[in-house]
Amino acid sequence: MLVPSKILLDHALKNKYCVGAFNVNNMEQIQAIMQAASETLSPVIVQASRGALKYSKMIYLQKLMEAASIDNPEIPVTIHLDHGNSLATVKEAVALKFTSVMIDGSLDETGKIPNTYEQNVAVTKSVVEYCHPLGITVEGELGTLGGIEDGVGSGKVQLTDPDQAVQFVKETGVDSLAVAIGTSHGAYKFKVAPKLALDIVKTIHEKLPNLALVMHGSSSVPEELVAIVNKYGGKMPNAKGVPLDQIQSVIPHGVAKVNVDTDGRITMTGAIRKVFVEQPEKFDPRDYLKPAREALAKMIAERMKAFGTAGHAKEIKQISLEEAKKFYE
Ligand SMILES: [Zn+2]
Repeated sequence: MLVPSKILLDHALKNKYCVGAFNVNNMEQIQAIMQAASETLSPVIVQASRGALKYSKMIYLQKLMEAASIDNPEIPVTIHLDHGNSLATVKEAVALKFTSVMIDGSLDETGKIPNTYEQNVAVTKSVVEYCHPLGITVEGELGTLGGIEDGVGSGKVQLTDPDQAVQFVKETGVDSLAVAIGTSHGAYKFKVAPKLALDIVKTIHEKLPNLALVMHGSSSVPEELVAIVNKYGGKMPNAKGVPLDQIQSVIPHGVAKVNVDTDGRITMTGAIRKVFVEQPEKFDPRDYLKPAREALAKMIAERMKAFGTAGHAKEIKQISLEEAKKFYE
């Protein structure tokens, strides 16, 4: 069943693990995620950005995401809009039966210029008012991350202010909140491995113990994955992400959703490059998409274990959006 992310995040928050939210653009990525979720019995969030929906012409991707849950009835699956930029975009996602949306009011509609706090509250509140009567979960964002991905990002970093977070949640009614605590979008996040602002996460969690916190820009960009890309003719010098132990250090403090996009891209690209270099006679897309899908499933299964998600799928009672409406009455 496609479920609202609220039930996954609340369960994760209560049991001090986090749910991976993996970005998708095509069938192989969705299948890899579901293979990993099925093998590790993990609840999962499959998410699509505006860029992904545009690439896939929306309905194609939605049908594939829907197939993910039909094919895996034992796994609670959420389909989530990543970085919604306006109420109009959210409405499109809702029309496509998305069960969860993010409205990124930290930036304006272009996704490039930071909004004021008041602008953020206004757009976020409008989305909450639209989605909650439908049972749909809403993720907001306060503070801005560094880096740019899918054209989203102002290039400026503004860490989340805990007192402002309390006010923001009260004013908007969001179910979960993406916080800026030192992560960054993309593959070239940092020159040296970062230390996340653990003190900020702890303070926000103390002030808002029932709120699921979300970390964007949380790909680890592991050296071994980058090395495969570079070994087979790629050019990704100095790519660096957030080390896995840094991510694990914040999970006990209310971080219930971690977004992973870049690592999946690097994994598939490495696997495809390997086939191209080692078997240049191949020309059937299945010959390289199959190993790419396998490599992605393996990477994601490892993350699901590292995030503590593995094994929790059956503990979650799957509910429909109809049933979820009661959360907001
Ligand atoms: Zn993001």
